[in-house]
Amino acid sequence: MMQGILEIYGYGKYKDVITMMDLERFTSATGPTGGYIKRADGGDVQKMAIVLCAGSRDKNYIPYCSRICCMYSLKQAFVLKKMLGIDVTVYYIDIRATGKGYEDLYWRDQEAGVVFIKGKVAEIYKNNANGKLTVLAEDTLTGETREDEYDMVALATPMVAPAGLKELADKMKVAVGEDGFITEKHPKLDPVDSLVTGIFACGCTLSPKDVRDTVSDGLGAAAKAALFLKSDYVTTSPEKAFVIADLCNGCKACIPVCPVNAITMQGDKAVIDPFQCVGCGACIPVCPQEAIDFRNATSRQIMATLRGVLAEKQPSEIRIVAFVDKNVGYTGMDFLGLDRASYPENIRIMAVPSTAILGLKHLLYAFAYGADGILVIEGSQEIDEKFTKKRMIDLGRELAKYGVENMRVRYSYVPLPVYKKAAELFSMFTERIKKFGPLQEEKRKAIREKLQV
Ligand code: SF4
Ligand code: SF4
Ligand code: SF4
Repeated sequence: MMQGILEIYGYGKYKDVITMMDLERFTSATGPTGGYIKRADGGDVQKMAIVLCAGSRDKNYIPYCSRICCMYSLKQAFVLKKMLGIDVTVYYIDIRATGKGYEDLYWRDQEAGVVFIKGKVAEIYKNNANGKLTVLAEDTLTGETREDEYDMVALATPMVAPAGLKELADKMKVAVGEDGFITEKHPKLDPVDSLVTGIFACGCTLSPKDVRDTVSDGLGAAAKAALFLKSDYVTTSPEKAFVIADLCNGCKACIPVCPVNAITMQGDKAVIDPFQCVGCGACIPVCPQEAIDFRNATSRQIMATLRGVLAEKQPSEIRIVAFVDKNVGYTGMDFLGLDRASYPENIRIMAVPSTAILGLKHLLYAFAYGADGILVIEGSQEIDEKFTKKRMIDLGRELAKYGVENMRVRYSYVPLPVYKKAAELFSMFTERIKKFGPLQEEKRKAIREKLQV
C-alpha cells in the first residue's frame, strides 16, 4: 500500500529522493557521508525539499498522523539551513509541533530562512534536461500550482507498527488494532496495560511516539509489571463470560467472535480464560446451545430484571425498554439524571454489561413481557462498530418473523460527550411507538409460546 505513494514521489526510481531516516544518517558525523549531504552522483546539494505527511494522514495509505515527523523534520531543516548552508523548503499540510520546545523550533526554522509551503505534494519527477527533481504541489494559501526544482527531496514517511509485532501479539493473545498497534486497555486510565492481565505494552508498540513519551511509557510499564509481580495473587473483574460445560457441544462457533482470543477448546468443550476475557459479551448470542453466560449479568438475571421493569403494565400503556451498556452509555444516563433532563416516563432504562451481549431471546423476552419498543444504546464505538450495529439489523429481520415490526427496535451509538442526545432519542422513539400503539396481545402470546415462558 505504501509502495503506491512512494512511487508517486519517485522513491526507488530517483536516487536523490530519500526518506527522512536516510537524511538522519547522512547528517550524522558517524553516517555514510560523514555528516555531509551529497547527491547520488557525488554533486553538492544546494536546494532541498522536505515533504511532510508523505503517506500519513491519507485515507488511501496511512490514515493516522505519525506524530513525530513534523518535529524531526523541523530539526533537520534547521541543521541543513543553519549548519550546512542548504536552502530548505518544507511542504506541509499542517505543522503539528506539539510538546515542550517544539513550537520554538518552528520559529527558529523560520528565522533561519527555511521556506514553508502549505500544500500537499502531488508528484515528484525528474527534469531530464538538468537532472533536477521537480516537486509539483498546490500552495493552498495562494491557490497557485507550483513546480519547484531541487537537488534532493526527503520524504517524512509514516511510522508504522514494528515488523513482527502482529505475530508476537498473536502468540501472546494480545489484541492489535486495525492500525497494527497493540490495543491498550484504556487510552487514558490504563495506557500501558494490554487487554490481557499481566501483559503490558509501551512506546511504539502502542502508537507512533517520540523518545520522551516512549521513555515515560517504559517507566510506567516497568512499574506496572513490578507491582504485578510483587503481588501473591492476581485480581480481575468478576464480570466475565463463562462456559456452562454441560451445555457446550464443542461446535467452536464462539471462538472466532472473541476479539481477544480468550476462548479455547479443552477437549471437546470451550473454555474462557477469565484473565483474557474483556467482558464484551459478544460470544454469548452466537452460541447455539446457550452455553455461555455472563457473571453478574446472567441470562436469568437479565430476564428477571426485564420482568421487573415491565411489571404491572396496563394494556393501553406504552412501555419502552432501553438497554444501555453499563460502562459508557449508563454513565451518560447518570449525567442525564444529574442534569434533571426530562424524557418520557414510558422509558425503562436497563443496564447490561455491553450491548453485544444482546441476542434474539432478550428482545423477544422483552416483547413477551410487555415492551412495545426497544432501544439499544451503546457508548463504546468499538462495540458498536464490531457487533451491535450489524446484529441489531439482523435481529430486526428475525423479529419480523414473529410479527414484530422492526421499527419497534432502534439502536444508537451515544458516546459520553453527546449523552444529551439520549434524551432526544427517548422522546423521538416514544412518539414513534405511540403511533404504532401497544404490541398486540396475540403477538406477545405467540412469542411466549415460542419461548415456553
Ligand atoms: S507529524 Fe506532521 S508530518 Fe507527521 S503525519 Fe503528523 S502532520 Fe504529517
Ligand atoms: S459456541 Fe457454545 S456450544 Fe459452541 S463451542 Fe462455543 S460454548 Fe460450546
Ligand atoms: S465476553 Fe468477549 S472477550 Fe470475553 S470471551 Fe466472550 S467474546 Fe471473548
